[in-house]
Amino acid sequence: MGWVCQSCREEIEEPFDACWNCGTDRAGRPDSAFRRADEPDPPPPPSAGVSAVCPACGSVEYRPIRPDGWVTYAPDRICTGCGMRYTPPTPRWAAVTLVLVGSAMLLGAVASVLTRLATGNLLAIVTGVSDVLVGLLGGIAVRYGVRVLRRPAG
Ligand SMILES: [Zn+2]
Ligand SMILES: [Zn+2]
Repeated sequence: MGWVCQSCREEIEEPFDACWNCGTDRAGRPDSAFRRADEPDPPPPPSAGVSAVCPACGSVEYRPIRPDGWVTYAPDRICTGCGMRYTPPTPRWAAVTLVLVGSAMLLGAVASVLTRLATGNLLAIVTGVSDVLVGLLGGIAVRYGVRVLRRPAG
């Protein structure tokens, strides 16, 4: 025969004398140091897509959530009305900035690699790996920005 937590009304199995849900003991005394075993939040649902308002119910009320990608200017949103997760559109100025900065990184990296090749210094070519990485990042930024700009507005 189990018992019922006086604080949260959770049904507790007999061998335990404290509530697994809130830490309150059988006599109703709360445990201030109690932390739930399943403390980490459940993973957020995948984004339902890019939208300025909730795609499910049209609500503009939301709470921000940490985005998955690194190339985002606005955090994802969880609709406070229905719990739907969606991604706000990337502003066009941000996309333009990405293309410009990305192009500069790409061109700078290419120029740097070419300069190292021209000087023929083997050691310099090896350290040029970082240039390639910068160039790659620039390329990713440009691609992302162009994709956002090509998307029809609204
Ligand atoms: Zn409880
Ligand atoms: Zn909603």
